[in-house]
Amino acid sequence: MLTDNHNRTINYLRLAVTDRCNLRCFYCMPEEGINWLSRPELMTAEEMLRVCTILVKAGIEKIRITGGEPFVRKDIMPFLTDLSKLPGLKELTITTNGVLTAPHIPDLKKLGVRSVNLSLDTLDRNRFFAITHRDELPAVLDTLDQLLHHGMEVKMNAVVMEGKNISDIIPLVQLTKDMPLSVRFIEEMPFNGGDKHYTKLQWDHVRILETIKEQFPAIEKIPDADYSTSYNYHIPGHKGTVGIIAAYTRSFCGTCNRIRITPSGTLKTCLYDNGVLNIKDLMRSSNDDTAVQAALLSALGKRAKDGWEAESKTTVHESMASIGG
Ligand code: SAM
Ligand code: SF4
Repeated sequence: MLTDNHNRTINYLRLAVTDRCNLRCFYCMPEEGINWLSRPELMTAEEMLRVCTILVKAGIEKIRITGGEPFVRKDIMPFLTDLSKLPGLKELTITTNGVLTAPHIPDLKKLGVRSVNLSLDTLDRNRFFAITHRDELPAVLDTLDQLLHHGMEVKMNAVVMEGKNISDIIPLVQLTKDMPLSVRFIEEMPFNGGDKHYTKLQWDHVRILETIKEQFPAIEKIPDADYSTSYNYHIPGHKGTVGIIAAYTRSFCGTCNRIRITPSGTLKTCLYDNGVLNIKDLMRSSNDDTAVQAALLSALGKRAKDGWEAESKTTVHESMASIGG
């Protein structure tokens, strides 16, 4: 079992497989995009598989594939096929914007992917365009339908943003009435690739919950799963649940069980650190997996206590697309 220097279990890796994306969510990156990594800077599928193999042997049990948008990577399905066969890997999940996802759902299911996080901030086509700069809401809704049709567990993530989608909070909650999904509202974080719109958090988890309670006073707290990043709720009579993720307030650091690897192979032991080790460079300089594992374990032994401590040492201006969310 992997533990960090604060005695927290580490069993969850979020692997961002690309920084490229077919949307331009304004809270994530500028409309013109970011300075995309060149091909040699990106980890190859073989390198991603190698680091995952090392980490799973060391104690990682769950891997979430994220990005950028995972499905813009041409070799994503062969990579997922190989990854799904790793002995010791108990759970493989994906975070996607849903634009290109629908046709892959039957194959994902065959690989054993049972749960997908779908990012969707609004149900209104015009507001979707205003947020993402692309007219892709119908494709995302199709993915939602297909995921539910194929019996996948769906967590829908919506970033809550003043002036952008506040009027969507209630309609998104309303989806849980007839759909067995978890709609999760995320506090906006300052990772937008340098766009300066972010000044101060206006919608924290308390305000989001109060807004939902005004409309659904019977909403009740339900138990949160181990290591959950969301506070979870249920409205009597609804099939689905509601979650609120205090990503900016950082109230979940005490039980943080996850590490991240960026598309360029940088290990982040906290969302708010600037990267503590480049594993891709290490792997390219050594064929010795034991040495790579030792470097990874050493980095885990110097992990920040929480996001505030990590942030006090550095300032991250990166786009979330180069971190993975
Ligand atoms: N492209 C995929 C997607 O959007 O689902 C995966 C990558 S995206 C970076 C992962 C998650 O990060 C998404 O749910 C997105 O909403 C969230 N995210 C991106 N920028 C954010 C920000 N500034 N604050 C909070 N969440 C953010
Ligand atoms: Fe792309 Fe996801 Fe970032 Fe939106 S949040 S721009 S879909 S990577």
